[in-house]
Amino acid sequence: MRACLILLTLVATSLTTRAARCDWVDVRRAGQFRIYAEFDLDRYDSLVETIEEQRSDIAATLGLTPNENPIVVCLFSGYASYGRYVAEHAPTGARRRAVFVQKDDTGYVYVYRQPGFETDLRHELTHAILHSMLPFLPLWLDEGLAEYFEVPQQKRASGNPHQTKMKWAAKLGWKPNLVRLESRDDFSKFTAANYREAWAWVHFLLHSSDENNDLLRRYLATIQDEQLPGPFSSHLGTDPGKRQRLLLDHLKQWR
Ligand SMILES: [Zn+2]
Repeated sequence: MRACLILLTLVATSLTTRAARCDWVDVRRAGQFRIYAEFDLDRYDSLVETIEEQRSDIAATLGLTPNENPIVVCLFSGYASYGRYVAEHAPTGARRRAVFVQKDDTGYVYVYRQPGFETDLRHELTHAILHSMLPFLPLWLDEGLAEYFEVPQQKRASGNPHQTKMKWAAKLGWKPNLVRLESRDDFSKFTAANYREAWAWVHFLLHSSDENNDLLRRYLATIQDEQLPGPFSSHLGTDPGKRQRLLLDHLKQWR
């Protein structure tokens, strides 16, 4: 399960105050992103580019219009400083590997350096970028998109670690249920299986057909226009059995 959290009601201090409490070694500004790192970013020369590319990839893939709402990215050198900082500013995220917090029009991403931390960074950045563009997002879709975009771009269509697991699950009698997944609206109860199923529906919508891809884009565009689109399942045909079969067939045949 990817570690993340959205706290819409967090009491935030100013960025200046927050930044002053840490020993930032490297501070950068890249478009809407303000990046604070406890280590030299020159040692990770593609990291800043990764952050900027994530924004353009997400907007282009989903047909969304980006904006310039600020996103603050804090990169800690290890768990010790991350834990101290997050315990104060986003307490329920302190035991996690990374966390995203939205406060008014600013998103905050906190991640600490460890092997593979770029995946955590892309996951939380996806939440931050989506929430910079959208006034709300159903939990299953928020997490499904974050799981989809957390891998490097070249592994998104084929190569996500979920792919093999879900292909086998589809062959072994797994019964996906979008309505059931939509009812899982409590982040603290969203399970590893829920993350995998959310990824599967997102992959299905993006890659199974132009029609489904358009459906997802229109759904998100409705939200960006501050309209209520209703549950996604209500847009995906009236037969839940057929929906289930189409997803399973997609997973079984996708390479
Ligand atoms: Zn997440």
